[in-house]
Amino acid sequence: MFTYRFRELPVALNKKGEVRAALAKQIRVHPEEIFNLEVERFSLDSRRKGDPHWSYNVVFDLAKPVRASGNEARGLIEAKRERKGIESEPLKDSVQMPSHVDIVGAGPSGLWAALHLLRKGFSVDLYEQGKNVEERFRDIRRFIVDRKFNAHSNVLFGEGGAGAFSDGKLNTRSRNAFSEAVLKDMVGFGIDESVVTFAKPHIGTDRLVLMLREVRAEIAKLGGRIHFNTVLEDIEIKDGRICAIQLRNVSGHEARDVSLPFWKPCEALVLAVGHSARSVYTLLHARGVALESKAFAMGVRVEHPQMLINLRQLGKGVDTRLTGAAEYFLATPTLGKTSSAYSFCMCPGGILVPCASEPGTLATNGMSYSRRNGPFANGAIAVPIAASEKLFGGLELQRQIESDAYRVGGNNYAAPAQTIKSFLAHKEDAALPKSTYPCGLVQSNLWDWMDKTICKSLAEGFQNFDRKIPGFIDEGLIVAPETRTSSPIRITRNNDTLESVNTRGLYVLGEGAGYAGGIVTSAADGARLAHHAKKA
Ligand SMILES: Cc1cc2nc3c(=O)[nH]c(=O)nc-3n(C[C@H](O)[C@H](O)[C@H](O)COP(=O)(O)OP(=O)(O)OC[C@H]3O[C@@H](n4cnc5c(N)ncnc54)[C@H](O)[C@@H]3O)c2cc1C
Repeated sequence: MFTYRFRELPVALNKKGEVRAALAKQIRVHPEEIFNLEVERFSLDSRRKGDPHWSYNVVFDLAKPVRASGNEARGLIEAKRERKGIESEPLKDSVQMPSHVDIVGAGPSGLWAALHLLRKGFSVDLYEQGKNVEERFRDIRRFIVDRKFNAHSNVLFGEGGAGAFSDGKLNTRSRNAFSEAVLKDMVGFGIDESVVTFAKPHIGTDRLVLMLREVRAEIAKLGGRIHFNTVLEDIEIKDGRICAIQLRNVSGHEARDVSLPFWKPCEALVLAVGHSARSVYTLLHARGVALESKAFAMGVRVEHPQMLINLRQLGKGVDTRLTGAAEYFLATPTLGKTSSAYSFCMCPGGILVPCASEPGTLATNGMSYSRRNGPFANGAIAVPIAASEKLFGGLELQRQIESDAYRVGGNNYAAPAQTIKSFLAHKEDAALPKSTYPCGLVQSNLWDWMDKTICKSLAEGFQNFDRKIPGFIDEGLIVAPETRTSSPIRITRNNDTLESVNTRGLYVLGEGAGYAGGIVTSAADGARLAHHAKKA
Protein backbone atom coordinates (compact mmCIF):
# COMPACT_ATOMS: atom_id res chain seq x y z
CA MET A 1 0.00 0.00 0.00
CA PHE A 2 1.11 3.57 -0.69
CA THR A 3 -0.15 6.22 1.73
CA TYR A 4 -0.67 9.77 0.50
CA ARG A 5 -1.92 13.04 1.85
CA PHE A 6 -3.66 15.57 -0.41
CA ARG A 7 -3.72 19.11 0.91
CA GLU A 8 -6.35 21.60 -0.25
CA LEU A 9 -8.33 19.24 -2.43
CA PRO A 10 -11.00 21.48 -4.00
CA VAL A 11 -14.62 20.28 -3.75
CA ALA A 12 -17.51 22.22 -5.30
CA LEU A 13 -19.80 24.10 -2.90
CA ASN A 14 -22.81 21.94 -3.68
CA LYS A 15 -20.74 18.71 -3.37
CA LYS A 16 -19.79 19.07 0.29
CA GLY A 17 -18.59 15.72 1.64
CA GLU A 18 -18.24 14.13 -1.81
CA VAL A 19 -14.53 13.77 -1.31
CA ARG A 20 -13.89 10.37 -2.85
CA ALA A 21 -15.22 11.41 -6.25
CA ALA A 22 -13.34 14.73 -6.20
CA LEU A 23 -10.09 13.03 -5.19
CA ALA A 24 -10.42 10.27 -7.77
CA LYS A 25 -10.96 12.84 -10.50
CA GLN A 26 -8.06 14.96 -9.29
CA ILE A 27 -5.49 12.15 -9.17
CA ARG A 28 -6.99 10.23 -12.11
CA VAL A 29 -7.86 6.92 -10.46
CA HIS A 30 -11.15 5.05 -10.18
CA PRO A 31 -12.93 5.92 -6.86
CA GLU A 32 -12.74 2.27 -5.84
CA GLU A 33 -8.96 2.30 -6.12
CA ILE A 34 -8.84 4.63 -3.10
CA PHE A 35 -8.68 2.85 0.27
CA ASN A 36 -8.89 4.04 3.87
CA LEU A 37 -9.85 7.56 2.86
CA GLU A 38 -9.82 9.81 5.90
CA VAL A 39 -10.66 13.52 6.09
CA GLU A 40 -8.17 15.25 8.35
CA ARG A 41 -9.49 18.79 8.04
CA PHE A 42 -11.76 20.79 5.74
CA SER A 43 -12.60 24.44 5.41
CA LEU A 44 -14.32 26.93 3.18
CA ASP A 45 -11.88 28.56 0.78
CA SER A 46 -13.27 31.95 -0.19
CA ARG A 47 -10.08 33.54 -1.46
CA ARG A 48 -11.53 33.64 -5.00
CA LYS A 49 -14.40 36.09 -4.53
CA GLY A 50 -17.66 34.96 -6.10
CA ASP A 51 -16.41 31.38 -6.40
CA PRO A 52 -15.78 29.84 -2.98
CA HIS A 53 -15.27 26.10 -2.65
CA TRP A 54 -14.59 23.51 0.05
CA SER A 55 -10.99 22.63 0.62
CA TYR A 56 -10.13 19.22 2.11
CA ASN A 57 -6.97 17.75 3.58
CA VAL A 58 -7.25 13.99 3.19
CA VAL A 59 -5.09 10.95 3.75
CA PHE A 60 -5.64 7.74 1.80
CA ASP A 61 -4.03 4.55 0.51
CA LEU A 62 -3.49 3.32 -3.04
CA ALA A 63 -2.39 -0.12 -4.13
CA LYS A 64 -0.10 1.39 -6.76
CA PRO A 65 1.90 4.64 -6.81
CA VAL A 66 -0.12 7.60 -8.03
CA ARG A 67 0.07 8.44 -11.75
CA ALA A 68 -1.12 12.06 -11.70
CA SER A 69 1.49 14.75 -12.07
CA GLY A 70 1.82 18.50 -12.56
CA ASN A 71 -1.03 20.76 -11.43
CA GLU A 72 -3.38 17.87 -10.67
CA ALA A 73 -0.93 16.43 -8.17
CA ARG A 74 -0.11 19.72 -6.48
CA GLY A 75 -0.89 19.20 -2.83
CA LEU A 76 -0.17 15.48 -3.02
CA ILE A 77 2.59 14.07 -0.85
CA GLU A 78 3.56 10.65 0.43
CA ALA A 79 2.53 10.53 4.05
CA LYS A 80 2.11 8.72 7.32
CA ARG A 81 -1.16 8.73 9.24
CA GLU A 82 -0.80 11.17 12.10
CA ARG A 83 -3.91 11.29 14.20
CA LYS A 84 -3.18 10.14 17.73
CA GLY A 85 -5.51 9.59 20.64
CA ILE A 86 -5.32 11.15 24.08
CA GLU A 87 -3.76 7.90 25.40
CA SER A 88 -0.61 8.55 23.39
CA GLU A 89 -0.09 12.02 24.93
CA PRO A 90 3.09 11.93 26.98
CA LEU A 91 2.67 12.27 30.72
CA LYS A 92 5.15 14.98 31.64
CA ASP A 93 4.33 14.79 35.29
CA SER A 94 1.56 12.78 36.85
CA VAL A 95 -0.77 14.35 39.41
CA GLN A 96 -1.27 12.38 42.63
CA MET A 97 -4.87 12.96 43.70
CA PRO A 98 -7.05 11.54 46.44
CA SER A 99 -9.88 9.40 45.12
CA HIS A 100 -12.43 12.15 45.81
CA VAL A 101 -12.20 15.49 43.99
CA ASP A 102 -14.29 18.65 44.49
CA ILE A 103 -14.73 20.82 41.41
CA VAL A 104 -16.07 24.37 41.44
CA GLY A 105 -17.56 25.72 38.21
CA ALA A 106 -19.72 23.91 35.64
CA GLY A 107 -18.35 25.68 32.58
CA PRO A 108 -16.54 23.68 29.88
CA SER A 109 -13.36 23.21 31.95
CA GLY A 110 -15.20 22.02 35.09
CA LEU A 111 -17.60 19.76 33.19
CA TRP A 112 -14.82 18.10 31.19
CA ALA A 113 -12.60 17.69 34.25
CA ALA A 114 -15.56 15.97 35.94
CA LEU A 115 -16.30 13.72 32.96
CA HIS A 116 -12.73 12.57 32.47
CA LEU A 117 -11.96 12.17 36.20
CA LEU A 118 -15.12 10.07 36.61
CA ARG A 119 -14.13 7.93 33.63
CA LYS A 120 -10.82 7.26 35.42
CA GLY A 121 -12.64 6.07 38.52
CA PHE A 122 -12.42 9.19 40.72
CA SER A 123 -15.46 10.29 42.68
CA VAL A 124 -16.53 13.86 41.99
CA ASP A 125 -18.71 16.58 43.52
CA LEU A 126 -19.20 19.53 41.18
CA TYR A 127 -20.42 22.83 42.66
CA GLU A 128 -21.92 25.53 40.48
CA GLN A 129 -23.33 28.82 41.76
CA GLY A 130 -25.82 29.05 38.89
CA LYS A 131 -28.73 26.88 37.79
CA ASN A 132 -29.18 24.10 35.30
CA VAL A 133 -29.32 25.38 31.76
CA GLU A 134 -33.12 25.23 31.43
CA GLU A 135 -33.77 27.36 34.53
CA ARG A 136 -30.88 29.63 33.63
CA PHE A 137 -32.48 30.29 30.25
CA ARG A 138 -35.66 31.42 31.99
CA ASP A 139 -33.66 33.76 34.27
CA ILE A 140 -31.95 35.39 31.30
CA ARG A 141 -35.28 35.92 29.54
CA ARG A 142 -36.75 37.37 32.74
CA PHE A 143 -33.78 39.73 33.12
CA ILE A 144 -34.28 41.08 29.60
CA VAL A 145 -37.85 41.96 30.54
CA ASP A 146 -37.57 43.18 34.15
CA ARG A 147 -33.83 44.12 34.26
CA LYS A 148 -33.46 42.62 37.74
CA PHE A 149 -29.95 41.29 37.60
CA ASN A 150 -29.38 37.83 39.09
CA ALA A 151 -25.77 37.66 40.26
CA HIS A 152 -25.64 33.84 40.16
CA SER A 153 -27.71 32.99 37.12
CA ASN A 154 -27.05 34.99 33.97
CA VAL A 155 -25.30 34.89 30.58
CA LEU A 156 -21.98 34.12 32.27
CA PHE A 157 -22.96 31.96 35.23
CA GLY A 158 -24.78 28.63 35.40
CA GLU A 159 -24.52 25.20 33.80
CA GLY A 160 -22.29 25.41 30.72
CA GLY A 161 -20.62 28.56 32.05
CA ALA A 162 -19.91 31.46 29.73
CA GLY A 163 -20.02 29.08 26.80
CA ALA A 164 -23.70 28.12 27.05
CA PHE A 165 -25.33 31.24 25.61
CA SER A 166 -22.54 31.79 23.15
CA ASP A 167 -21.86 31.67 19.48
CA GLY A 168 -20.98 28.02 19.94
CA LYS A 169 -17.80 28.24 17.90
CA LEU A 170 -15.74 25.17 18.61
CA ASN A 171 -12.50 26.23 16.99
CA THR A 172 -9.20 26.32 18.80
CA ARG A 173 -6.01 28.10 17.86
CA SER A 174 -4.03 24.91 17.89
CA ARG A 175 -5.54 21.45 18.00
CA ASN A 176 -4.01 18.76 20.16
CA ALA A 177 -5.01 15.34 21.48
CA PHE A 178 -7.06 16.94 24.28
CA SER A 179 -9.08 19.27 22.09
CA GLU A 180 -9.66 16.38 19.66
CA ALA A 181 -10.84 14.24 22.58
CA VAL A 182 -13.27 16.99 23.64
CA LEU A 183 -14.66 17.27 20.11
CA LYS A 184 -15.09 13.50 19.95
CA ASP A 185 -16.87 13.57 23.32
CA MET A 186 -19.18 16.21 21.90
CA VAL A 187 -19.99 13.96 18.94
CA GLY A 188 -20.88 11.28 21.50
CA PHE A 189 -23.26 13.82 23.07
CA GLY A 190 -25.11 14.23 19.79
CA ILE A 191 -23.17 16.97 17.99
CA ASP A 192 -22.59 16.47 14.25
CA GLU A 193 -19.35 14.57 13.65
CA SER A 194 -18.08 17.17 11.18
CA VAL A 195 -16.95 19.27 14.19
CA VAL A 196 -13.92 16.99 14.46
CA THR A 197 -12.66 17.74 10.98
CA PHE A 198 -14.12 21.14 10.03
CA ALA A 199 -11.57 23.89 10.59
CA LYS A 200 -14.11 26.31 12.06
CA PRO A 201 -16.85 24.24 13.65
CA HIS A 202 -19.90 26.07 14.97
CA ILE A 203 -22.95 24.61 16.68
CA GLY A 204 -24.79 27.61 18.12
CA THR A 205 -26.35 28.05 21.50
CA ASP A 206 -29.42 25.88 20.70
CA ARG A 207 -27.34 22.73 20.11
CA LEU A 208 -24.96 23.58 22.95
CA VAL A 209 -27.84 23.64 25.39
CA LEU A 210 -29.03 20.22 24.18
CA MET A 211 -25.49 18.88 24.49
CA LEU A 212 -25.18 20.20 28.05
CA ARG A 213 -28.15 18.07 29.10
CA GLU A 214 -26.36 15.01 27.74
CA VAL A 215 -23.17 15.95 29.59
CA ARG A 216 -25.18 16.32 32.80
CA ALA A 217 -26.77 12.90 32.28
CA GLU A 218 -23.39 11.28 31.59
CA ILE A 219 -21.86 12.79 34.74
CA ALA A 220 -24.79 11.44 36.77
CA LYS A 221 -24.50 8.03 35.09
CA LEU A 222 -20.84 7.86 36.06
CA GLY A 223 -21.77 8.62 39.68
CA GLY A 224 -20.81 12.32 39.75
CA ARG A 225 -22.94 14.76 41.74
CA ILE A 226 -23.65 18.24 40.41
CA HIS A 227 -24.78 20.75 43.04
CA PHE A 228 -26.38 23.77 41.39
CA ASN A 229 -27.10 27.00 43.33
CA THR A 230 -23.98 26.40 45.41
CA VAL A 231 -21.32 29.08 45.76
CA LEU A 232 -17.75 28.57 46.90
CA GLU A 233 -17.28 31.24 49.54
CA ASP A 234 -14.01 30.42 51.26
CA ILE A 235 -11.12 27.98 51.37
CA GLU A 236 -8.88 26.85 54.19
CA ILE A 237 -5.22 26.21 53.57
CA LYS A 238 -2.97 24.56 56.18
CA ASP A 239 0.78 24.12 55.72
CA GLY A 240 0.50 25.12 52.08
CA ARG A 241 -2.19 22.51 51.33
CA ILE A 242 -5.90 22.91 50.72
CA CYS A 243 -7.88 21.24 53.52
CA ALA A 244 -11.46 22.61 53.50
CA ILE A 245 -13.92 24.62 51.44
CA GLN A 246 -16.83 26.77 52.55
CA LEU A 247 -19.99 26.60 50.47
CA ARG A 248 -23.34 28.35 50.56
CA ASN A 249 -26.61 27.45 48.87
CA VAL A 250 -28.31 30.21 46.93
CA SER A 251 -31.52 29.88 45.01
CA GLY A 252 -30.47 32.92 43.04
CA HIS A 253 -33.69 34.89 43.51
CA GLU A 254 -33.88 36.63 46.84
CA ALA A 255 -31.47 37.32 49.67
CA ARG A 256 -33.72 35.31 52.01
CA ASP A 257 -33.22 32.17 49.89
CA VAL A 258 -29.57 32.03 50.87
CA SER A 259 -28.46 29.36 53.38
CA LEU A 260 -25.84 29.79 56.08
CA PRO A 261 -22.37 28.91 54.81
CA PHE A 262 -21.04 25.48 55.72
CA TRP A 263 -17.54 24.00 55.71
CA LYS A 264 -16.56 20.71 54.12
CA PRO A 265 -13.20 18.92 54.29
CA CYS A 266 -11.44 18.91 50.92
CA GLU A 267 -8.12 17.41 49.85
CA ALA A 268 -8.29 18.15 46.12
CA LEU A 269 -10.04 21.24 44.81
CA VAL A 270 -10.34 21.97 41.11
CA LEU A 271 -11.13 25.62 40.46
CA ALA A 272 -12.80 26.02 37.07
CA VAL A 273 -14.51 29.33 37.78
CA GLY A 274 -14.06 31.30 34.55
CA HIS A 275 -12.73 34.80 33.99
CA SER A 276 -15.62 36.61 35.62
CA ALA A 277 -15.40 35.06 39.09
CA ARG A 278 -14.03 38.25 40.58
CA SER A 279 -14.94 37.31 44.15
CA VAL A 280 -12.86 34.14 43.79
CA TYR A 281 -9.76 36.13 42.81
CA THR A 282 -10.25 38.35 45.89
CA LEU A 283 -10.70 35.27 48.07
CA LEU A 284 -7.61 33.51 46.71
CA HIS A 285 -5.52 36.64 47.19
CA ALA A 286 -6.72 36.96 50.79
CA ARG A 287 -5.76 33.31 51.45
CA GLY A 288 -2.30 33.75 49.95
CA VAL A 289 -2.75 31.73 46.74
CA ALA A 290 -0.26 32.90 44.08
CA LEU A 291 -1.87 35.18 41.48
CA GLU A 292 -0.38 37.49 38.88
CA SER A 293 -1.79 40.18 36.66
CA LYS A 294 -1.82 39.40 32.95
CA ALA A 295 -2.38 41.11 29.63
CA PHE A 296 -5.87 40.96 28.22
CA ALA A 297 -7.94 43.00 25.74
CA MET A 298 -10.94 45.32 25.72
CA GLY A 299 -12.91 47.19 23.13
CA VAL A 300 -16.40 47.24 21.70
CA ARG A 301 -18.85 45.08 19.74
CA VAL A 302 -19.63 46.18 16.21
CA GLU A 303 -22.70 45.17 14.28
CA HIS A 304 -23.15 45.18 10.49
CA PRO A 305 -25.78 43.92 8.09
CA GLN A 306 -24.83 40.30 7.41
CA MET A 307 -25.48 40.92 3.71
CA LEU A 308 -22.58 43.39 3.60
CA ILE A 309 -20.21 40.87 5.18
CA ASN A 310 -21.43 38.09 2.84
CA LEU A 311 -20.89 40.29 -0.19
CA ARG A 312 -17.42 41.47 0.79
CA GLN A 313 -16.11 38.15 2.08
CA LEU A 314 -17.66 35.71 -0.37
CA GLY A 315 -18.38 37.83 -3.43
CA LYS A 316 -21.52 38.43 -5.45
CA GLY A 317 -24.19 35.80 -6.02
CA VAL A 318 -22.87 33.15 -3.62
CA ASP A 319 -25.52 30.91 -2.09
CA THR A 320 -24.98 31.35 1.66
CA ARG A 321 -27.29 28.41 2.36
CA LEU A 322 -24.33 26.35 1.13
CA THR A 323 -21.46 28.34 2.64
CA GLY A 324 -23.08 29.56 5.84
CA ALA A 325 -23.05 33.25 6.78
CA ALA A 326 -19.65 34.83 6.15
CA GLU A 327 -17.12 35.68 8.84
CA TYR A 328 -14.26 38.14 9.07
CA PHE A 329 -10.91 38.10 10.82
CA LEU A 330 -9.34 41.51 10.91
CA ALA A 331 -6.21 42.79 12.59
CA THR A 332 -3.93 45.74 12.20
CA PRO A 333 -1.15 47.43 14.13
CA THR A 334 -2.13 50.87 15.47
CA LEU A 335 -0.67 53.87 17.29
CA GLY A 336 2.70 53.70 15.52
CA LYS A 337 2.82 49.92 16.05
CA THR A 338 2.67 50.32 19.84
CA SER A 339 -0.82 48.82 19.88
CA SER A 340 -3.23 46.98 17.62
CA ALA A 341 -6.90 46.43 16.92
CA TYR A 342 -8.30 43.06 16.00
CA SER A 343 -11.59 41.28 15.59
CA PHE A 344 -12.44 38.61 18.11
CA CYS A 345 -15.26 36.13 18.66
CA MET A 346 -17.16 37.12 15.53
CA CYS A 347 -20.78 35.92 15.36
CA PRO A 348 -22.20 35.76 11.82
CA GLY A 349 -25.98 35.96 11.79
CA GLY A 350 -25.88 36.37 15.56
CA ILE A 351 -27.25 38.65 18.23
CA LEU A 352 -25.77 40.86 20.90
CA VAL A 353 -26.17 39.97 24.58
CA PRO A 354 -25.62 41.84 27.83
CA CYS A 355 -23.11 39.87 29.86
CA ALA A 356 -22.21 41.62 33.07
CA SER A 357 -21.45 39.51 36.12
CA GLU A 358 -22.13 42.18 38.71
CA PRO A 359 -25.21 44.38 39.16
CA GLY A 360 -24.83 47.99 38.04
CA THR A 361 -22.28 47.15 35.34
CA LEU A 362 -22.59 46.55 31.64
CA ALA A 363 -20.59 44.48 29.18
CA THR A 364 -21.60 43.18 25.76
CA ASN A 365 -20.87 39.99 23.89
CA GLY A 366 -22.32 38.01 20.99
CA MET A 367 -24.12 34.71 20.53
CA SER A 368 -25.84 32.86 17.71
CA TYR A 369 -28.07 29.92 16.89
CA SER A 370 -26.94 26.94 14.84
CA ARG A 371 -28.42 28.29 11.61
CA ARG A 372 -26.66 31.64 11.94
CA ASN A 373 -29.40 33.11 9.80
CA GLY A 374 -30.03 36.43 11.55
CA PRO A 375 -29.78 39.64 9.48
CA PHE A 376 -26.79 41.03 11.43
CA ALA A 377 -23.16 40.09 11.93
CA ASN A 378 -21.43 41.10 15.13
CA GLY A 379 -17.86 40.89 16.32
CA ALA A 380 -15.70 42.26 19.09
CA ILE A 381 -13.05 44.73 18.04
CA ALA A 382 -10.50 44.56 20.80
CA VAL A 383 -7.34 46.40 21.78
CA PRO A 384 -4.63 44.73 23.89
CA ILE A 385 -4.24 45.95 27.47
CA ALA A 386 -0.81 45.32 28.99
CA ALA A 387 -0.55 43.51 32.33
CA SER A 388 -1.11 46.02 35.11
CA GLU A 389 1.60 46.64 37.68
CA LYS A 390 -1.10 46.30 40.33
CA LEU A 391 -2.53 42.77 40.72
CA PHE A 392 -6.13 43.98 40.47
CA GLY A 393 -5.36 46.91 38.12
CA GLY A 394 -6.78 45.24 35.01
CA LEU A 395 -9.89 44.10 36.84
CA GLU A 396 -10.46 47.62 38.21
CA LEU A 397 -10.15 49.06 34.70
CA GLN A 398 -12.72 46.51 33.42
CA ARG A 399 -15.07 47.36 36.26
CA GLN A 400 -14.63 51.12 35.76
CA ILE A 401 -15.54 50.92 32.07
CA GLU A 402 -18.45 48.58 32.81
CA SER A 403 -19.96 50.83 35.48
CA ASP A 404 -19.47 53.92 33.30
CA ALA A 405 -21.26 52.11 30.47
CA TYR A 406 -24.13 51.21 32.80
CA ARG A 407 -24.48 54.84 33.91
CA VAL A 408 -24.23 56.23 30.37
CA GLY A 409 -26.82 53.67 29.25
CA GLY A 410 -29.29 55.05 31.81
CA ASN A 411 -28.79 52.59 34.70
CA ASN A 412 -31.08 50.06 33.07
CA TYR A 413 -28.76 47.76 31.07
CA ALA A 414 -29.40 49.69 27.85
CA ALA A 415 -26.04 49.91 26.05
CA PRO A 416 -24.22 53.04 24.87
CA ALA A 417 -23.98 52.99 21.07
CA GLN A 418 -22.59 55.08 18.22
CA THR A 419 -22.27 54.53 14.50
CA ILE A 420 -18.65 54.01 13.43
CA LYS A 421 -18.98 57.07 11.19
CA SER A 422 -19.96 59.32 14.10
CA PHE A 423 -17.33 57.71 16.34
CA LEU A 424 -14.66 58.71 13.82
CA ALA A 425 -16.11 62.25 13.73
CA HIS A 426 -16.26 62.37 17.59
CA LYS A 427 -19.97 63.26 17.56
CA GLU A 428 -23.22 61.79 18.84
CA ASP A 429 -25.69 60.33 16.34
CA ALA A 430 -29.03 61.93 15.64
CA ALA A 431 -30.52 58.44 15.39
CA LEU A 432 -29.19 54.91 15.60
CA PRO A 433 -29.76 52.08 13.11
CA LYS A 434 -31.47 48.82 14.12
CA SER A 435 -29.58 46.49 16.41
CA THR A 436 -30.10 43.06 17.97
CA TYR A 437 -29.07 44.20 21.47
CA PRO A 438 -32.13 43.20 23.52
CA CYS A 439 -32.09 45.83 26.31
CA GLY A 440 -32.14 48.95 24.15
CA LEU A 441 -29.45 51.39 23.00
CA VAL A 442 -28.61 54.93 24.08
CA GLN A 443 -26.83 57.36 21.76
CA SER A 444 -23.47 58.22 23.22
CA ASN A 445 -20.18 59.68 22.10
CA LEU A 446 -17.82 56.98 23.34
CA TRP A 447 -14.87 59.41 23.41
CA ASP A 448 -16.59 61.13 26.36
CA TRP A 449 -16.30 58.19 28.72
CA MET A 450 -14.24 55.32 27.30
CA ASP A 451 -10.48 55.08 27.70
CA LYS A 452 -8.96 57.47 25.11
CA THR A 453 -6.10 55.15 24.12
CA ILE A 454 -8.56 52.34 23.43
CA CYS A 455 -10.71 54.76 21.38
CA LYS A 456 -7.73 55.98 19.33
CA SER A 457 -6.60 52.45 18.60
CA LEU A 458 -10.13 51.44 17.61
CA ALA A 459 -10.46 54.49 15.34
CA GLU A 460 -7.28 53.54 13.45
CA GLY A 461 -8.44 49.95 13.32
CA PHE A 462 -11.79 50.90 11.76
CA GLN A 463 -10.03 52.93 9.02
CA ASN A 464 -7.90 49.91 8.19
CA PHE A 465 -10.82 47.45 8.29
CA ASP A 466 -12.82 49.65 5.93
CA ARG A 467 -10.09 49.21 3.32
CA LYS A 468 -10.44 45.43 3.68
CA ILE A 469 -14.25 45.40 3.93
CA PRO A 470 -15.55 48.53 2.15
CA GLY A 471 -18.67 49.68 4.02
CA PHE A 472 -17.28 48.62 7.42
CA ILE A 473 -17.37 52.28 8.52
CA ASP A 474 -20.52 53.47 6.75
CA GLU A 475 -22.68 50.54 7.78
CA GLY A 476 -21.17 49.76 11.18
CA LEU A 477 -22.72 50.32 14.59
CA ILE A 478 -20.69 50.23 17.80
CA VAL A 479 -22.30 48.82 20.94
CA ALA A 480 -20.08 49.24 23.98
CA PRO A 481 -18.18 47.98 25.84
CA GLU A 482 -16.62 44.54 25.29
CA THR A 483 -14.53 43.98 28.39
CA ARG A 484 -14.60 40.21 28.99
CA THR A 485 -12.30 38.92 26.29
CA SER A 486 -10.10 37.07 28.77
CA SER A 487 -9.02 37.24 32.38
CA PRO A 488 -6.86 40.14 33.61
CA ILE A 489 -5.53 37.83 36.35
CA ARG A 490 -3.77 34.49 36.26
CA ILE A 491 -3.84 31.91 39.08
CA THR A 492 -0.24 30.85 38.72
CA ARG A 493 0.08 27.11 38.18
CA ASN A 494 2.61 24.45 37.34
CA ASN A 495 1.85 23.93 33.68
CA ASP A 496 2.49 20.20 33.77
CA THR A 497 0.45 19.32 36.86
CA LEU A 498 -2.01 22.27 36.64
CA GLU A 499 -1.56 22.67 40.41
CA SER A 500 -1.22 26.11 42.00
CA VAL A 501 2.46 26.96 42.40
CA ASN A 502 2.10 27.54 46.13
CA THR A 503 -1.00 25.62 47.26
CA ARG A 504 -0.91 21.83 47.14
CA GLY A 505 -4.15 20.14 46.21
CA LEU A 506 -5.49 23.24 44.40
CA TYR A 507 -5.79 22.69 40.64
CA VAL A 508 -6.72 25.64 38.46
CA LEU A 509 -8.28 25.27 35.05
CA GLY A 510 -9.71 27.06 32.09
CA GLU A 511 -10.25 30.69 31.39
CA GLY A 512 -10.40 31.73 35.05
CA ALA A 513 -6.95 30.34 35.66
CA GLY A 514 -5.79 32.59 32.84
CA TYR A 515 -4.34 29.82 30.71
CA ALA A 516 -7.17 28.86 28.37
CA GLY A 517 -9.74 30.77 26.37
CA GLY A 518 -12.70 29.44 24.47
CA ILE A 519 -15.06 26.52 24.90
CA VAL A 520 -12.95 23.70 23.51
CA THR A 521 -9.62 24.94 24.88
CA SER A 522 -11.09 25.28 28.35
CA ALA A 523 -12.73 21.86 28.16
CA ALA A 524 -9.41 20.42 26.92
CA ASP A 525 -7.74 21.82 30.04
CA GLY A 526 -10.18 19.75 32.11
CA ALA A 527 -9.46 16.64 30.05
CA ARG A 528 -5.72 17.29 30.46
CA LEU A 529 -5.94 17.41 34.26
CA ALA A 530 -7.77 14.08 34.33
CA HIS A 531 -5.28 12.51 31.90
CA HIS A 532 -2.43 13.32 34.29
CA ALA A 533 -4.35 12.39 37.45
CA LYS A 534 -3.35 9.27 39.36
CA LYS A 535 -5.00 8.08 42.55
CA ALA A 536 -2.65 8.73 45.48
C1 LIG B 1 -21.57 35.54 25.19
C2 LIG B 1 -20.32 34.72 25.03
C3 LIG B 1 -20.06 34.11 23.82
C4 LIG B 1 -18.94 33.29 23.68
N1 LIG B 1 -18.77 32.63 22.51
C5 LIG B 1 -17.78 31.71 22.41
C6 LIG B 1 -17.66 30.90 21.25
O1 LIG B 1 -18.47 30.98 20.32
N2 LIG B 1 -16.65 30.00 21.19
C7 LIG B 1 -15.74 29.87 22.21
O2 LIG B 1 -14.84 29.03 22.11
N3 LIG B 1 -15.82 30.63 23.31
C8 LIG B 1 -16.83 31.53 23.44
N4 LIG B 1 -16.92 32.29 24.57
C9 LIG B 1 -15.90 32.11 25.62
C10 LIG B 1 -16.15 30.80 26.37
O3 LIG B 1 -17.48 30.75 26.76
C11 LIG B 1 -15.23 30.70 27.58
O4 LIG B 1 -13.90 30.76 27.11
C12 LIG B 1 -15.42 29.39 28.33
O5 LIG B 1 -16.76 29.23 28.71
C13 LIG B 1 -14.51 29.33 29.54
O6 LIG B 1 -14.75 28.13 30.22
P1 LIG B 1 -14.41 27.94 31.75
O7 LIG B 1 -14.89 26.59 32.12
O8 LIG B 1 -12.99 28.25 32.00
O9 LIG B 1 -15.25 29.07 32.53
P2 LIG B 1 -16.76 29.51 32.46
O10 LIG B 1 -17.41 29.01 31.23
O11 LIG B 1 -16.76 30.96 32.70
O12 LIG B 1 -17.44 28.75 33.69
C14 LIG B 1 -17.14 29.05 35.02
C15 LIG B 1 -18.30 28.64 35.90
O13 LIG B 1 -17.87 28.75 37.26
C16 LIG B 1 -18.95 29.22 38.04
N5 LIG B 1 -18.43 29.88 39.26
C17 LIG B 1 -17.65 30.99 39.32
N6 LIG B 1 -17.40 31.31 40.60
C18 LIG B 1 -18.04 30.40 41.36
C19 LIG B 1 -18.14 30.21 42.76
N7 LIG B 1 -17.55 31.02 43.64
N8 LIG B 1 -18.88 29.18 43.21
C20 LIG B 1 -19.50 28.34 42.35
N9 LIG B 1 -19.43 28.46 41.00
C21 LIG B 1 -18.69 29.48 40.51
C22 LIG B 1 -19.66 30.19 37.13
O14 LIG B 1 -20.98 30.39 37.55
C23 LIG B 1 -19.53 29.53 35.76
O15 LIG B 1 -20.66 28.78 35.43
C24 LIG B 1 -18.02 33.13 24.75
C25 LIG B 1 -18.25 33.79 25.95
C26 LIG B 1 -19.39 34.58 26.10
C27 LIG B 1 -19.62 35.26 27.41
